[in-house]
Amino acid sequence: MRSWLIAGVAAASLLAGVALAQGLKPGDVGYPYGDLKEITLQGRMVDLAGEMAKKYGARTTGAGPEKQWGFSTPKGELYTFLDNEAYRKLIAGKPAEGGVEVQVRLIPRSHLIEVKSFKPIPASAIHQAFYCAVCNIRTEDWGPCECCGKEMEPVSDAK
Ligand SMILES: [Zn+2]
Repeated sequence: MRSWLIAGVAAASLLAGVALAQGLKPGDVGYPYGDLKEITLQGRMVDLAGEMAKKYGARTTGAGPEKQWGFSTPKGELYTFLDNEAYRKLIAGKPAEGGVEVQVRLIPRSHLIEVKSFKPIPASAIHQAFYCAVCNIRTEDWGPCECCGKEMEPVSDAK
């Protein structure tokens, strides 16, 4: 029902991608920054300290009063945010609830994202399914298999 909106976002991304550096310097609007891409991602917000401790035994202190949020896509790809104004707006609500679509700049050679805009999407749009072929276990969450520790593989028949 809002596909025209998504199409508009995609078109805008393409236009930004073909902009050429004609007398532009880094920092100028429209400067292309080589391989830096502007992309749209759908997924959900994840509490990095909690999820990394639970899934990988990471020892994070959570030193500040605020949670550090990451972004997980239906294929289990994990992204981390640059702390900017749009990110602050994104986490100001109830970030753990439901799905979200973010329009971001993806920093080359990383999964570090700079949020430009975002909007909520239905949780059904970001349904996740993962499978461990060793143990024949299916889950709806990414990470290491609870049985053998092998990283779960995303499966495409998610519905
Ligand atoms: Zn397993």
